[in-house]
Order: sequence, then structure tokens, then C-alpha cells
Amino acid sequence: MHAQDRRALPAVSGIVGIDIGGTKISGLVVDDRGEVLARGSVPAPASEGGEAMADAAAALASALADRAGTPLAAVGVGAAGVIDQETGTVRAASATFVGWAGFPLADELESRLGVRVRVENDVNAFLLGEAAGAADVEGDVLGVMLGTGVGGAVIIDGALRHGPNGAAGEIGHTPGYSDLVCTCGQVGHLETLASGTSIGRRYAERTGGAAPDAREVAERARAGDADAAAVFHAAGRALALACASAATLLDLPRAIVGGGVAEAWDLLEPAIAETLRTDAPVSGLPLIILPAELGGDAVARGAIEAARRALVPAGAL
Ligand SMILES: [Zn+2]
Repeated sequence: MHAQDRRALPAVSGIVGIDIGGTKISGLVVDDRGEVLARGSVPAPASEGGEAMADAAAALASALADRAGTPLAAVGVGAAGVIDQETGTVRAASATFVGWAGFPLADELESRLGVRVRVENDVNAFLLGEAAGAADVEGDVLGVMLGTGVGGAVIIDGALRHGPNGAAGEIGHTPGYSDLVCTCGQVGHLETLASGTSIGRRYAERTGGAAPDAREVAERARAGDADAAAVFHAAGRALALACASAATLLDLPRAIVGGGVAEAWDLLEPAIAETLRTDAPVSGLPLIILPAELGGDAVARGAIEAARRALVPAGAL
């Protein structure tokens, strides 16, 4: 199927996209042209366990379908954690999500809502949403999410690459970028320089005092603070090196970078450009590293796309 053919296919109305994060659960419903019919969010009860999270997500999905005036047909979910693709169960998750690892999220939502549910890792959903939004449905692209941590995803021939353990694309935990201890306990990972948390910490190490958040460091950099600028330069260089390594390995022409840190693209971009000049993929073809375009909607839109691909019978496409 050609990209143009697939792009011309109608989206399936009635699929609600849900983005389950550590602080909030958000969602949206779009029409066949991709226009948002309804959106909303609720606080995520991540400390109360999987049942409470499923209750909140299911209630939001129902409310959004009602508000959009469409019968609920299916639900796509982008959720934090390593997700088992076959079952929609959370395999592993950070400690801030109580009772999340091992939680059969898809089954629990299906029993609450009475419709099919497709669960995808949130960074995978982010990349699927961005790629679909750019009408790039057959391409090869790397996704990097610079948030509290650093996540990654890979699309090859238009399809997400999950890997046998559902952990493909975890670029944040590739080594060699620093001598610092990562949140995972290992040393030198990309995340030690490029996550929002790390940017605050690296700045505090240079200047003393408590670690500000990445947004504050960005404001200081723009105001002429050399330490703040140096922290973003190091983040941009490490990000570009990681993208160049992945691109070289898999012949990826493009990387899309999202998450809160990517909002400081003006501060990352000079180091990215400089690094790509010295460390370009051996193919000789330019690697393009771009900031994400869909903002906070990317995960939910990608979740809708994941559900559409997985749940709609092939004959209906
Ligand atoms: Zn790590």
C-alpha cells in the first residue's frame, strides 16, 4: 500500500486516545480529518495502584466519547512502562507507579468499557503520533523523548519496532556520554545529560545550590548564564551523538525529539548542528533531527493510530 493510499483512508471515529503519565491522564477524540472533537485530562492516581489508574482512564475515555457525541468503538492507550504487546500488560515500570508492573491494563480497561483496547508504550505512541501527523506512514524514523527521563522509539518501514522484550529504542540508557550515575543505576547513559532532571542537576553541580527545573535553566541560558548554556550544549551534543549512532546502525534518515526539554530547541540546536557536522552517519546522507510538532497531543494521537492499526479488521482498511 502506498503512503498516499493509506493517508486517504478515513480514521476510525469513536476511537479514544488516552495518554497515561505519572501526574496526569489525558485523552482526546478526533474526527476522520484529525480535528479534535473532545479533549480532557484528570490527575493520575499513580500512587494508588493499577486499579485506580484503570478506573480513572476508563472514566475519562467514556466522558470524552460522550462529549464528542460518538459511540465508543475502541480505546488506544499510550502508557508509561514496558508494555507486553501481545497482552497489553505492563511488564515493568518505575517505582513512582505503585502496582503498575504486572498490571493487565488492556484487560482491565476492556472489562470496564466493553470495547477493545490497545496499549502501547507512551514513547512508542508519541513517535507513532508524530509520524502519522507528518503523513510519514512508511518511513524509518527515530523518536527521542526528553522528559523527566529519556525515552526512545524506532519506526522501520512505517511500523514500530518493539523487540522481543518490548524494549527496543531505549536510547536514554545507552552508555558512554558521561561519568555520571544514571537513574537506572548504571553509569554514563544519555539520560545523565539530556533529561529534564539531569539538566537541573548538572546546572546545580556547576553553580551550587538546589537544582532548578530544566525550564528555569533554559531561561537562565537565554539571559546569558554561561553555566546554563553549557549544560544545554552538553545535552544537545549527547543527544546528537546518540541519534547519529542509531541512524548509522539502522540507516535512519530522521529523528524527532519531543518532551519538555525539546521546548528549549533554540538552546539544543547549535550543539546538534555542530555535532552532526563532525559525527554524521557513514552513509553520507544527512541525518535530520527535528523537534516534535504535536506537543502534548502526540501520545494520545499515536495511541489512536496504534488502536486503529491493531484493532480494525484488515478488510476494513
Ligand atoms: Zn540509565
